[in-house]
Amino acid sequence: MFSEFECIENADLKEFSTIKIGGLARWIVFPKNHIELKKILQICEKNALKMKILGNGSNILFADTGFDGVLVNLKYFNKITILEKLQDEYILQVGAGINLFALNIRLGMLGLSGLEFSYGIPASLGGFIYMNGGCFGHEVCEVISSVLVMDYDGNLKVIEKDECGFDYRASKLEKYIILGAKLRLKREKSELILKNMRFFLEKKRNSQPCDMPSLGSVFKIVKSNPPIYPAKIIDNLGLKGVKIGMAEVSTKHAGFIVNLGGAKASDVIALIEFLEEKLKSVGVVVEREIVLF
Ligand SMILES: Cc1cc2nc3c(=O)[nH]c(=O)nc-3n(C[C@H](O)[C@H](O)[C@H](O)COP(=O)(O)OP(=O)(O)OC[C@H]3O[C@@H](n4cnc5c(N)ncnc54)[C@H](O)[C@@H]3O)c2cc1C
Repeated sequence: MFSEFECIENADLKEFSTIKIGGLARWIVFPKNHIELKKILQICEKNALKMKILGNGSNILFADTGFDGVLVNLKYFNKITILEKLQDEYILQVGAGINLFALNIRLGMLGLSGLEFSYGIPASLGGFIYMNGGCFGHEVCEVISSVLVMDYDGNLKVIEKDECGFDYRASKLEKYIILGAKLRLKREKSELILKNMRFFLEKKRNSQPCDMPSLGSVFKIVKSNPPIYPAKIIDNLGLKGVKIGMAEVSTKHAGFIVNLGGAKASDVIALIEFLEEKLKSVGVVVEREIVLF
């Protein structure tokens, strides 16, 4: 079906999710450009195939039964182009498929500041924009000027930042495939940027189980005044280290569920539901940050 494109048939989804869980995907397709992407969309439409975008899989829990459809990964949409060099900032066009490690290193070398907070997050830029990811008081939308997308009919469109509907861990970009973004970044000394990147990375490594397979925070912070941190409540309830099968509430950060080795998606879901019940019993209704495919 996808022989003209780079494609893996019956792909083991454990290799495509940072929590290392999932059955087989019928196809994972890797378009080289937007023309190929459009053709893939047309094939999916014509054959009524289920289709979803897969970034770096750092927020997706795949089912044990796998994904009976097409996952499209934009790893080849990874170019960085300098559009404008202003006195104190640069404007860049960056592909959605680049991962945040590589992007941060390049920005550090170019002397461009604004995304250092994201160093250490194992996401693609596209996935990070889709979720308006962030940490340490920053969000990716701070550096975005506009987003280049394709709709599911194959039309390209530039969406200005104001129309992206960025909110806490949310955007209104669900109708689109994010191909890239125009970023505005401040000029700064490379040494300082690299130092700050290392600082944020260390901070993450000290507080989160970065060496264990996970999907990051399972639940969103509850927006209220003051905000409610589900991880803090889970910790206060003494639930760190609780296990179902090989899925465990991290002993390092109660907001993470880690795979101790061989966990099933059903273990993770059962553990999430257990935590949701416990939180509800103390009056806290949470929204999941991770997505189930
Ligand atoms: C160790 C660890 C630490 C983490 N720390 C943080 C953190 O500090 N802050 C934070 O916000 N998150 C964090 N996360 C969660 C995760 O990295 C983010 O949610 C990230 O935005 C997901 O990006 P991804 O490329 O992996 O997307 P995926 O997990 O592949 O996909 C997530 C969703 O985005 C959609 N999507 C992906 N790419 C595109 C695209 N190009 N166009 C349209 N839709 C797309 C997918 O269809 C899916 O619905 C962490 C995760 C881990 C494992």
